[in-house]
Amino acid sequence: MTPGRPVPPPLALHIPPADDAEQDLASERAGEGLLAAARGAVSSTSGLVPLTVARRAPKADDVEIAVEFCGLCHSDVHATRGEWGTQNYPLVPGHEIVGRVSRVGADVDDFAPGDLVGVGCIVDSCRECESCLDGFEQYCEQGMTGTYGAKDRRNGDAITQGGYASSVVVDRRYVLHVPETLDPAAAAPLLCAGITTFSPLRHFGVEEGDVVGVVGLGGLGHMAVKLAKAMGAKVKVFTTSESKVSAALELGADAVVLSRDEEAMTAENRSIDIIIDTVAAPHDLNPYFRTLRRDGALFQLGLPSEAMPPVNPGSLIRRRLSYAGSLIGGIAETQEMLDFCAEHGVVSDIELVGAEELNEAYDRMVAGDVKYRFVLDTTTLQAPSERADA
Ligand SMILES: [Zn+2]
Ligand SMILES: [Zn+2]
Repeated sequence: MTPGRPVPPPLALHIPPADDAEQDLASERAGEGLLAAARGAVSSTSGLVPLTVARRAPKADDVEIAVEFCGLCHSDVHATRGEWGTQNYPLVPGHEIVGRVSRVGADVDDFAPGDLVGVGCIVDSCRECESCLDGFEQYCEQGMTGTYGAKDRRNGDAITQGGYASSVVVDRRYVLHVPETLDPAAAAPLLCAGITTFSPLRHFGVEEGDVVGVVGLGGLGHMAVKLAKAMGAKVKVFTTSESKVSAALELGADAVVLSRDEEAMTAENRSIDIIIDTVAAPHDLNPYFRTLRRDGALFQLGLPSEAMPPVNPGSLIRRRLSYAGSLIGGIAETQEMLDFCAEHGVVSDIELVGAEELNEAYDRMVAGDVKYRFVLDTTTLQAPSERADA
């Protein structure tokens, strides 16, 4: 046991027989929720501060997880700083969660205490609409329930609190099995950055011999390079910065194109099957359409806050191109991605940080100063206080 780490609760399924009084106490505790140590924001300008979150006692279908690692996603920065509109504070971010099961509800038979598991961006959805029934919960017509900052309709409209915490409780339908062969810290970013890039590559049916273009080499871009290479594709990275050329080649890219070099862009004319565009700042897509072959597609994953330069329909029409978007991935697809990563030895490149370094890590993320994902080590969280803040 690491000093400072909250003591896990007794496991519901493994309560040793004791005398009556002890047994009563144990079964009483088994039905209680935990107070989790956490880091989160209390206002848009507070930065991340120590908080204590009340987790519900596992209901029949719930899995309680002792969180070990949680990746830091750009969405976390935008959300905690209120850059995406009004937020409910306090807000504990984090949707790249890896940990071990500590307790399970009575009806859970696909997870057991001790299992290595993950939770991504989704903790609930309507389970009835066409998208949910097709396994694309991220496109739920009632709106998916996000892992943090969302109204949890099946749990009294409580606001969900994310994975920068010592524990989390999630319905089994939204919990993933993380293969034991994956490094748990480096696997955490697969739950958002990994699936966000895997899903469009799979949807497009990328296979051996295809040429994949990746625009931007951050958290998403570096996963796109690794996953496309593992699928057998040839990968070309587009970047505006000369300093990223060697980094892209190190990750396995076959070629790097400086997108500001018009001649280099022209030389790529009709050479690519699918482009994964991870850039969230407004940028002109027309030069990229010219690099696509007939029937090619450009998937935009980054959501710019300002308008983009207009797309020229002529460039789409003349080559039967598709201009598409894509949002994370469904639960079944996320499991497929984790199994694929285990099979091909794919994980994120990470820099592990402690709770005290989170605010600095956020500033470095905004400055683009990370290779390629920060991951919080939850053993560095303070002990929870006796009263919950959220
Ligand atoms: Zn994310
Ligand atoms: Zn639905």
